Amino acid sequence: MLRLTVDGLRTRYVTRGRAVNAVDGVSLEVAPGETVGLVGESGCGKSTLGKTIMRLLDPAEGSIRLNGRDIADLGSAALFPFRRRMQMVFQDPFGSLNPRQTIGTLLETPLKVHGLGKAAERRRRVQDILARVGLPAEAAGRYPHEFSGGQRQRIGIARALVLEPELIICDEPVSALDLSIQAQILNLLVDLKRDLGLSYLFISHDLSVVRYFTDRVLVMYLGRIVESAGHAELWRTPRHPYTRALLASVPQPDPAQRHERAELRGELTRAEAGGCRFRARCPLAFDRCAVEDPALRVVAPGHALACHLA
Ligand code: SF4
Ligand code: MG
Repeated sequence: MLRLTVDGLRTRYVTRGRAVNAVDGVSLEVAPGETVGLVGESGCGKSTLGKTIMRLLDPAEGSIRLNGRDIADLGSAALFPFRRRMQMVFQDPFGSLNPRQTIGTLLETPLKVHGLGKAAERRRRVQDILARVGLPAEAAGRYPHEFSGGQRQRIGIARALVLEPELIICDEPVSALDLSIQAQILNLLVDLKRDLGLSYLFISHDLSVVRYFTDRVLVMYLGRIVESAGHAELWRTPRHPYTRALLASVPQPDPAQRHERAELRGELTRAEAGGCRFRARCPLAFDRCAVEDPALRVVAPGHALACHLA
């Protein structure tokens, strides 16, 4: 059982001599067995947040707790045992697969690195994992370029699973795939969650994908969580003007669920310091929005919002 608790996390980049908080004070929790969606436009800091939680990037501030143990400041040796428990699936499986390694080697390497099992056991584990993700046994002897996009994402998922993690951070795992293949991969992720008791932090810019299977949704805008609610609650009563705009751009089959059109105007740009970071695009912005940054506050059971109109 693994519980992830992130508190006040900041990740800083320096671009053109200027420091930018790509992740700017994020707190979140993923309970054992839970699937939490993280949505927002590309460039809002979702991937940076995912990579920081994985400690592929170093946080500037804040804590990342796994069952209470803070891993935010651990060096690579101390971090090593935690790596097994949390894994990541990336958008572009091809980019993250070594083209000169057979799938068997690729899947066996993490087992070797973590000193798990003898050679025969490791190969058996590789065969098990291939079967789990719906690939034939002979895939182990082949190379990444011999597989289609959907199959390569199955390999990416197999690689994430081989160490038997409890939490998987999925970063746009189906965004690069054809629509028909997307459904297959999402179904696979649902089956794996059920069979292996996994929890997911599921990152996507596409709300129709997140809608598919999340328990709870976090909406991110320019480095911050601006709304957080249970899945049904968010779709029934989205409250943040940004969430409403995002939802308005998703086709709604049920007329009762259609929200008044709040067009998302302009582009994702970093607002000057102070004030609500959504104000330049917000149809409801008023005086206070320019001077005071709204904090994330609970507005209903399980529903939090960062907006002065709360
Ligand atoms: Fe819009 Fe103001 Fe709310 Fe920000 S605080 S989302 S600018 S109404
Ligand atoms: Mg991204």
